[in-house]
Amino acid sequence: MCDVADDITSADYYFDSYSHFGIHEEMLKDVVRTKSYRDVIYKNKFLIKDKIVLDVGAGTGILSLFCAKAGAAHVYAVECSQMADTAKEIVKSNGFSDVITVLKGKIEEIELPVPKVDVIISEWMGYFLLYENMLDTVLYARNKWLVDGGIVLPDKASLYLTAIEDAHYKQDKVEFWNDVYGFDMSCIKRRAITEPLVDTVDGNQIVTDSKLLKTMDISKMASGDASFTAPFKLVAKRNDYIHALVAYFDVSFTMCHKMMGFSTGPKSRATHWKQTVLYLEDVLTVCEGETISGSMTIAPNKKNPRDVDIKLCYSLNGQHCKISRTQLYKMR
Ligand code: SAH
Repeated sequence: MCDVADDITSADYYFDSYSHFGIHEEMLKDVVRTKSYRDVIYKNKFLIKDKIVLDVGAGTGILSLFCAKAGAAHVYAVECSQMADTAKEIVKSNGFSDVITVLKGKIEEIELPVPKVDVIISEWMGYFLLYENMLDTVLYARNKWLVDGGIVLPDKASLYLTAIEDAHYKQDKVEFWNDVYGFDMSCIKRRAITEPLVDTVDGNQIVTDSKLLKTMDISKMASGDASFTAPFKLVAKRNDYIHALVAYFDVSFTMCHKMMGFSTGPKSRATHWKQTVLYLEDVLTVCEGETISGSMTIAPNKKNPRDVDIKLCYSLNGQHCKISRTQLYKMR
């Protein structure tokens, strides 16, 4: 993720996608994301004014610029990709060089010119909240530099689960492999089903209610708390078929004068995170009021901690469908 080569080539981008402006363009144009951070900062200047702020993974420096404009005493913008050089240029051309110091390097390796900071701000969330595991970097920074009583923005992140009817797309993405121009490629189907799909789910596809799996308190949690098993019970809202479970998250800034935040759920305005779809091996036939119960276990992959391993156990004891199964998935 953090290559330091001077001449950027396609090989560098392969390992360091954050060096290219394209990914930053996508994030900046995600107005749900960027305006939420902006509104939090501009409408709650008391959190930022005269404070020392650390921007963890500054990218183009946008969050640092918001904080500088809100009156921060000083902002340290740490960015490990080549984009750090660009952020320096952006800071300078906007006249904030005396307030924002851009530091190029990994949070885990840089030295900060001050012993403590009052505020840590970061946009660290990945697909399925935890993919890319940047949360560990924020927790590292918090443990090392955040002053007693300092704040982390955002300070809460919650993961939710619901279930959808998705016959059409499951056919296209999974069953497709059963018969490819007359040939059986179902060995790929078995692999395809283990990869959660990041895609936009239409609100009309939702068959059950939504359940909170886990809320993480970024200001208090330990790194290990991002690995957990959470039980769930999803209640069918209508008679339908269920092809997949869908995970999404929200984040909140509870230190604001009035609580603020945003959701990446299927009923909210779309974000670049979309939702994460986990296809089920079986099609579940559910009647209104029936319950799918189970548990989801989430942990960073042991070999590659940026990947996420997911274990899903579910059972349905319904009028038309009795089933109990465990499926393993991997976000990669
Ligand atoms: N804050 C910016 C960018 C968010 S994307 C914005 O809101 O638009 C996250 C950024 O964190 C990426 O640019 C990535 O290169 C950087 N990053 C990820 N891990 C890091 C680490 N360990 N140290 C420093 N920067 C990191």
